[in-house]
Amino acid sequence: MLTPVEGKVVLVTGASRGIGKGIARAFAHRGAAVAVVSRSIEAGDTCAAELRADGANAEAFAADVTEAASMNQLAERVAARFGGIDIVCANAGIFPNVSLEAMTGEDWDLVLNTNARSALFTLQACLPWLKRAMAPRVILTSSITGPITGYAGWAHYAASKAAQLGFMRSAALELAPYRITVNAVLPGNVMTEGLADLGSEYLTKMEASIPLKRLGTVDDIAWAVLFLASEEASFITGQTLVVDGGQVLPENQDAA
Ligand code: NAP
Repeated sequence: MLTPVEGKVVLVTGASRGIGKGIARAFAHRGAAVAVVSRSIEAGDTCAAELRADGANAEAFAADVTEAASMNQLAERVAARFGGIDIVCANAGIFPNVSLEAMTGEDWDLVLNTNARSALFTLQACLPWLKRAMAPRVILTSSITGPITGYAGWAHYAASKAAQLGFMRSAALELAPYRITVNAVLPGNVMTEGLADLGSEYLTKMEASIPLKRLGTVDDIAWAVLFLASEEASFITGQTLVVDGGQVLPENQDAA
């Protein structure tokens, strides 16, 4: 049994839907105050209202993880509303599929800025409050794609997800003197609105390639995040936790 997260303040980016919403719900249902962050305030409000309907302390905040000023304002507003920031889940991300031949500099920058540079801006913005927190935690949502596997059409995405991990290891070292741990979850294929957009053929193919023979749920990822955010994980930093139903394990199709 992990020490309860009751009373902690948790900021989750990309929390209006998908994995971020699952993470926000997991913390909210366990008594944490949750800042639901997304660009669309309507979608964030809907998510926060659902959490409040279940008795949780949650509020939506509009911010863009690609903009430092937006993230700085966000952290100020969240800390003013909830009295600090204890746990940061840098989860917002995009995964447009573009072939190498068609990929432009703009495509590359958008994905790298949204998925990787955002980790810098999110962490930087929250740092003043994390430094004062009792058990400060940062958890990044990376991916198996890039750090472990490759996928045609996702060269920029894979680069961004690998970049997050280089950032994480250096940040973990730099922030260790403040007892701030920085870790990452690496989801495999998790059923979210974003994944659904890739189409049923993709989903069927992925499901078949996962040894546990199902797509992940947002709760599967949230459990891993809850653990890395716990007081019991205080000696784990700069590490990755793969949550993929065994998808990266087979040496070939016959091994699955
Ligand atoms: P999703 O369903 O598309 O949701 C993405 C969330 O991020 C939304 O809340 C979106 O809200 C927000 N967002 C996007 N750009 C943003 C920006 N610039 N600033 C602030 N918020 C932004 O995605 P998902 O499938 O849950 O994926 C979440 C994370 O998990 C991503 O980092 C993704 O790479 C990673 N991941 C997912 C899978 C999977 O199978 N689903 C696998 C591996 C890794 P707004 O559009 O309103 O801003």
